[in-house]
Amino acid sequence: MGNTFTYDVVIIGAGPAGMCAALYAGRSMLNAVVLERGFPGGELLNTELVEDYPGFERILGHDLAAKFHEHAAKFGAEFRNGVHVTSVRKREDGLFDSETSEGDIYRSPAVILTAGGTPVKLGIPGELEYAGKGVSYCAICDGAFFKKQTIAVIGGGDAATEEADFLTRYADKVYLIHRRESLRASKILQQRLFENPKIEVIWNTVVDRIEGDEQGLVRTLGLRNVNTCEERNLAATGAFIFVGFRPNTGIIADHVKHDAMGYLLTDANMETSIPGLFAAGDLRSQLTRQVTTAVGDATTAAIAVEKYLKSHGGGATEIIGTGGYSS
Ligand code: NAP
Repeated sequence: MGNTFTYDVVIIGAGPAGMCAALYAGRSMLNAVVLERGFPGGELLNTELVEDYPGFERILGHDLAAKFHEHAAKFGAEFRNGVHVTSVRKREDGLFDSETSEGDIYRSPAVILTAGGTPVKLGIPGELEYAGKGVSYCAICDGAFFKKQTIAVIGGGDAATEEADFLTRYADKVYLIHRRESLRASKILQQRLFENPKIEVIWNTVVDRIEGDEQGLVRTLGLRNVNTCEERNLAATGAFIFVGFRPNTGIIADHVKHDAMGYLLTDANMETSIPGLFAAGDLRSQLTRQVTTAVGDATTAAIAVEKYLKSHGGGATEIIGTGGYSS
């Protein structure tokens, strides 16, 4: 049997949205905790350079994450790292129980979900088998292992396009394999890609399988042209897969309104269809997913939580009556 902790607001996930929500919650003198299964930073930790966050012409993702974290902590938010939330459930008394894999319960009248998303898998033979042995979903984490090699990036969105460009720092040759004949990535990223002499785009093509050698390392990608059905093998020692993100919303035990892709629908205050449950950042249904939009969402959510708590009789101390924690 784990412990039960009580807070005014529990923030789940310490990416840009979670850290910004914590900053605003702290400034509002709310008793807030941020639960993070890894380390604070979220997708910033998978991003080499950030060039589109106002005020910072160029800043390393890691450095921006560290600044966000320090700033939020300064205003009193509590961060608990290595805490894996397995479910969030609204109780009959209106409070939320966020339960962890250790069996602890974080009880609060409001929750802000900022758990981001998880990379989509291709679901092809060899993908899982060679994960970490040539198959990767994170260029910044694994790029340096591919110095002077020939590798492939799969996808045609911002992530694939940006990371293909980044990977040419290490690799001699990067093939970008895309299933259509135009990219969905933003124009500036496309321009960089097309100007990079180390990148070659293979259009209208999908990867059907990933094969390796006797040492268990990736050596070949099986390609298929979707128009001609022509198949061929491409020699490559790495396959970086960037075919989208799925929102990490599986922890919500109750039915909550979402869009066709599973992203959470919120009102203008970032409140979901469950009163008291707010969402900000990459798991929210919206036009784009940027650091700037994540922190914008989070600012609104944290301020809306303060108003929600006032209209529902105060924070956890008033509502639950314990403050601190009980075991
Ligand atoms: P995305 O925009 O959804 O793009 C996914 C790409 O993968 C699309 O080109 C899609 O092809 C392709 N794809 C999907 N399933 C596939 C499959 N089974 N086989 C082959 N290809 C497949 O995802 P993302 O690039 O990860 O970006 C997610 C969000 O983060 C976006 O909102 C993006 O703007 C944002 N982001 C921004 C930046 C930046 O601004 N610097 C960087 C990274 C991400 P189709 O085009 O044919 O659908």
